[in-house]
Amino acid sequence: MRQIWAPWRMEYVGDSTPREGCVLCAIDAGGTDQEKHVVERAELTFTVLNLYPYSSGHLLVVPHRHAPDLTALTTSEGTAMFVGVRRAVRALQAALGPDGFNLGVNQGRIAGAGIADHVHTHVVPRWDGDTNFMPVLADVKVLPEHLDRTAERLRAAYAELAPDPAGG
Ligand SMILES: [Zn+2]
Repeated sequence: MRQIWAPWRMEYVGDSTPREGCVLCAIDAGGTDQEKHVVERAELTFTVLNLYPYSSGHLLVVPHRHAPDLTALTTSEGTAMFVGVRRAVRALQAALGPDGFNLGVNQGRIAGAGIADHVHTHVVPRWDGDTNFMPVLADVKVLPEHLDRTAERLRAAYAELAPDPAGG
């Protein structure tokens, strides 16, 4: 890939050290993927099971860099997050067979962002008839054993994924 020298980015990237108190930076920086329920790591992003899922298999696709919102991501990071979302959808389809998905970014606390200052995309699998299930599960921490099992199934699905035709 052709590299463009971008001196204005140096300060930008230099300002991206993990932030004290940021849950997502802590997941990225410490512990094993098994402990943290990380299901995939890529160059610019990682994908992790949400500890407070709206449904079983609720994933977060997260840039490694602590960036507050979509407008603060580089084009490469934005593309990588989108590729991560596509891979998450395909892995979930293979592992859990949902009937549909909610995909989205909650930007700012007013929009419901639980982690307001480190942008991430939610990938929420949905099943027919689960409409009343979401409010029940929202913000309820599920048992770690359940997350362990789901993470294992997803890692196996990721390992079997054919390359994304769009790259990634
Ligand atoms: Zn962070």
